[in-house]
Amino acid sequence: MGLQDIKDKTAAAEAAAGRAPGSVTVIAVSKVQPDARVHAVLSEGHRTFGENRVQEAAGKWPGFREEFDGIDLHLIGPLQSNKARQSFELFQCIHSLDRPKLAKTFARLAQETGGCPDLFVQVNTGEEPQKAGILPADADAFIKDCLGMDLPVRGLMCIPPADEEASLHFALLAKIAERNGLKGLSMGMSGDFEAAIALGATHIRVGSAIFGARETG
Ligand SMILES: *Cc1c(COP(=O)(O)O)cnc(C)c1O
Repeated sequence: MGLQDIKDKTAAAEAAAGRAPGSVTVIAVSKVQPDARVHAVLSEGHRTFGENRVQEAAGKWPGFREEFDGIDLHLIGPLQSNKARQSFELFQCIHSLDRPKLAKTFARLAQETGGCPDLFVQVNTGEEPQKAGILPADADAFIKDCLGMDLPVRGLMCIPPADEEASLHFALLAKIAERNGLKGLSMGMSGDFEAAIALGATHIRVGSAIFGARETG
């Protein structure tokens, strides 16, 4: 438990998979954590964080940015189109590009503002009706459309079904990324980040194993 432990396990998993040290970015998922816990992880020197709600991020991160330089904030939760503009101001990276309408909104905002956060396309690898994401069968065409709009798509993201072997989903995501020439893989959470690293994760999203259990959310 804790940041150092996750960093050590990440380094060990990189080595075990024959991957370069530092090739995996640890996103500390700070959603609904008390500010004091987030402050402690910032004070340890960590700068890469993930939030799943725009509103919550807008409430807490401007304050932390006044105190700490170089914060790299990632949106990992679903995004409503009407919050896209705000998300461009708050986040350096968005992992939840999950539908054509949002891609069009991003393209328009990128033109207007002259910039765009790094993007991951979320793939619904488990084809779960209640879950966001592009279906695997539609992924190639969607990625092509996004790149055609000059969107900075860096990779793919998935959240495997809770009751299935996560590695099967990680392997599927890696395969879709590879055939589309994408290098980034946002996959792996507290319970399965080592398996994700073995299958090529470049970004792991770890919350409770760094900060402790969440009270809600
Ligand atoms: C909350 C969340 C995480 C982190 O989950 P933990 O099990 O606490 O590590 C990762 N990814 C997404 C999309 C999340 O919403």
